[in-house]
Amino acid sequence: MTSRERRIADFIEPFRVEPGSKVNLAKDFDPGFRGTIRSKKRGRKLLNQGVELLAEYQSRLYAEHTHGVLVILQALDAGGKDGTIRHVMTGVNPQGVSVSGFKVPSNEELDHDYLWRYGLRLPARGEIGIFNRSHYEEVLVVRVHPELLERQKLPDDSRKGLWRRRFREINQWERTLSDNGFKIVKLFLNLSNEEQRIRFLRRIDLRDHNWKFSAADIREREYWDDYQRAFSKMLSRTSTEWAPWYVIPADRKWYARIAAGAVIANTLMEIDPRYPKVGKDARAALQKIKLELEAQAAEGAAADPFEEEQEA
Ligand code: AMP
Ligand code: MG
Repeated sequence: MTSRERRIADFIEPFRVEPGSKVNLAKDFDPGFRGTIRSKKRGRKLLNQGVELLAEYQSRLYAEHTHGVLVILQALDAGGKDGTIRHVMTGVNPQGVSVSGFKVPSNEELDHDYLWRYGLRLPARGEIGIFNRSHYEEVLVVRVHPELLERQKLPDDSRKGLWRRRFREINQWERTLSDNGFKIVKLFLNLSNEEQRIRFLRRIDLRDHNWKFSAADIREREYWDDYQRAFSKMLSRTSTEWAPWYVIPADRKWYARIAAGAVIANTLMEIDPRYPKVGKDARAALQKIKLELEAQAAEGAAADPFEEEQEA
């Protein structure tokens, strides 16, 4: 491990949810945490370094074409999911990245098992796929609002022990992906109640931000405690060795972005993708082609088929 890799691994360690541990979100994680990075200016420098690192690794991931990375972002409204995606992924080649947002499921989606629509959006090998909300909504919003479960058309005998079963199924699904080369980065942006209130007010005060705010957001805010409980259970039951959760302190946007970028970078470092090596024969073939290309220049440019037209 290089010293840079060591620094990043140490930096993200406090955010990691130890598999098997019982999480009490309100007690165990501080949304305002900023560790040793005290200033936004220093933060910006770190973020820029992180963005560069990500771009370099993504290019190798794409070339190697063996692993894929799935980044999952979960948060309450105004938690900063969109901004994190925008800032962290600025430097990367759009060709190797896909972003999928998940909203209230359509009728077609409800006609399938609950994991179906998420499976359709998984990244391919060489790609980074970002889920803005994810299959975890199936144990979050659906758990907080049981009437949503009514719409899922489940057989009666599948209701017993449903949440425990969903946790198990999600863990198994992620295990399958992980064993087959797809690493999963799970980021929970942990926002405080007070900071959500301030961000909602800003969305109302700033005209260009009005579109981001809906009356439904205020209704959801009333379920704050239920959500904190649902998040705590989700973190306790689905942080696994193959796909651990990271709780990102989200009250300072700049800090959340550095932390999220560092966790993604750490995953890519662990994969350590390499540019494919070109064999001796292939290199010899390339040298031959090179000589041919150079000879063409020596013969002078080929006749321009449009010459007559240009003169006319
Ligand atoms: P937004 O992310 O602000 O565009 O809002 C998307 C909305 O879709 C949120 O209110 C989510 O709670 C809701 N949503 C996402 N996934 C599900 C799901 N599986 N079942 C029900 N509602 C969902
Ligand atoms: Mg919203």
